[in-house]
Amino acid sequence: MSDSKDYYKTLELDTTATADQIKSNYRKLMKKYHPDVNPSPEAAELSRKINEAYEVLSDPAKKQEYDNPTPMMDFGGGGPFDPFSSMFFNRSNPFDPFSQFLNGQQEQHRRNSDLNITVNVNTANLFKGIPDADITYNVKLACSDCDGTGYASKDTCPQCQGSGKVVQRQSNGMFTSQTITGCGICKAKGYIVRDTCKKCNGFAFSEEKREIKIENIASNLFQTLRFPGKGNSDASLTTAPGDLYVIVNPIVEEGAINPMDLSVHISHNIDALNFIAENKIKLPGLNNEWHEIQLMCGNTEYVVKEGGIPRGTDRSNMVLTINPVLYPVQNKELKEQILKNLNEVK
Ligand SMILES: [Zn+2]
Ligand SMILES: [Zn+2]
Repeated sequence: MSDSKDYYKTLELDTTATADQIKSNYRKLMKKYHPDVNPSPEAAELSRKINEAYEVLSDPAKKQEYDNPTPMMDFGGGGPFDPFSSMFFNRSNPFDPFSQFLNGQQEQHRRNSDLNITVNVNTANLFKGIPDADITYNVKLACSDCDGTGYASKDTCPQCQGSGKVVQRQSNGMFTSQTITGCGICKAKGYIVRDTCKKCNGFAFSEEKREIKIENIASNLFQTLRFPGKGNSDASLTTAPGDLYVIVNPIVEEGAINPMDLSVHISHNIDALNFIAENKIKLPGLNNEWHEIQLMCGNTEYVVKEGGIPRGTDRSNMVLTINPVLYPVQNKELKEQILKNLNEVK
């Protein structure tokens, strides 16, 4: 067994250690290596290993499986010609890929999760000179009484004996196929709750409001900002919290922003007759501005230099797309004039 997977060595114990010694060494080592108190680069990896070791050695069912990794003969069936038997030969070894896959849910549960939030930035605020944003968000915190498990006491699942897995065998002529699925009785957890935690009523975590300031948000539009350790502590308060990812999403009313150059794109419907006459028209932009556009027949896209959003000391461009719309002409004389003009063009 390699050192990295020697759980007793990780917890500085020998294999005869009692449950109390396991717990006491775990606490002692976590106090020393928890990334919150130990800034050394190895601390995070070490505390992860310590947690992994504790998780197995503190759980009687997992410890039993770890201490006695014998092939499970009771899966039976696997005669010398059974093509599937080799897949399951190491089934009881806690490190074979299958068991890791099946234990994924449990191991996942002990890792605090990252938190993703999207912050919509109304770009109108950038004209008002609001460069920083105060964001309020909720983090999940594991219950301090039950350490995020939701229970006060538990029993080993009678169906799967704590493994969280059940094996189904199917005979098909000379072959026997076996499928391992999550145990339905305990939902693959390996245990059944006897008493729910009184503090959290089995919810396992609570939510708490947090605040974070994003400085100079105008220079972070469309970015995903990472704040290490500002995410959830939903799995356990004793392990490092997850990270917070903030997606800064700029919005303009009735328009869209191009993430590449931050140009603002707005489209307007206008009377097609303006095109025929090649009129000058005025259209609304951002920040109560109006832009005068000299229409040219056949051109429906007009770029207004620096008509977009503030970007450092300058502004991005605005692209106005103009949709010519034919409105019914009610005025009889105007209608005749237009038809005459069109005939002349022909
Ligand atoms: Zn079960
Ligand atoms: Zn609780």
